[in-house]
Amino acid sequence: MEKREKLYEGKAKIIYATDNPDLVIQYFKDDATAFNAKKKGTIQQKGIVNNAIASKLFEYLGSHGIPTHFVKKLSEREMLVKKVEIVPLEVIVRNVAAGSLCRLLGLEEGRALLQPTFEFCYKADALNDPMINESHVLALDLAKEKEMLKIKDMTMKINDLLKKFFATLNVNLIDFKLEFGRYKGDIILADEISPDTCRLWEIGTNRKLDKDRFRQDLGNIEEAYQEIMAKVTG
Ligand code: ADP
Ligand code: UDP
Repeated sequence: MEKREKLYEGKAKIIYATDNPDLVIQYFKDDATAFNAKKKGTIQQKGIVNNAIASKLFEYLGSHGIPTHFVKKLSEREMLVKKVEIVPLEVIVRNVAAGSLCRLLGLEEGRALLQPTFEFCYKADALNDPMINESHVLALDLAKEKEMLKIKDMTMKINDLLKKFFATLNVNLIDFKLEFGRYKGDIILADEISPDTCRLWEIGTNRKLDKDRFRQDLGNIEEAYQEIMAKVTG
């Protein structure tokens, strides 16, 4: 697989073309941002960790019937994926209250939720990725109704699968963000699933093993990422 020109450089990853027009390479960087890129830094080895974790989770989800963009892990920092047209939504699921939900509703961090919550945010950095509802998605034609139904259905299945997977590692899946893309008429799971995009708490102690260690300056960030990688990749 020949790596060609850079197509896009984001905050955490770079997308490269390949000699196959249907495939691109996701290159994982160590750059970390939080609070809509107002806080910037580096988490040593993060790119290696996130590529390893995301690859493993995509394989796991794929083997349980979830279509994903994952083709194969090419190297420590490179993942070969199907090139999609990204649906401009961040799909957020929560099992326990944390982060922006606590700020929005005045909830205590760690408060149990009776059932998972489901949110759409419009992917628009200039607007701070505002939360929107299904009527906005349809009115602005961000996705078709059929696509939205598919996204919701897949997202709930993914939550069940990931919750189970992390529970076997003694980790509680608090919340996470997904991105989906269009590929040959289908909707498939894209982007990454990693400690950058999930909140992961050790069961029993509630020790944070995710990007909140960076957001909240909790220390031992690299160690937490390595610990999750070791657990996930067994
Ligand atoms: P951001 O754009 O938010 O800074 P990243 O640094 O993670 O995020 O950049 C990766 C970009 O690639 C994101 O915009 C993401 O939506 C996009 N992307 C993820 N998977 C694919 C894919 N399979 N095909 C095309 N683009 C993708
Ligand atoms: N998330 C993400 N990218 C974003 C926003 C959120 O990956 O641009 C993830 C975040 O890591 C967490 C979940 O989505 O696991 C919910 O994030 P929240 O809305 O609480 O936002 P935050 O408090 O992190 O700003």
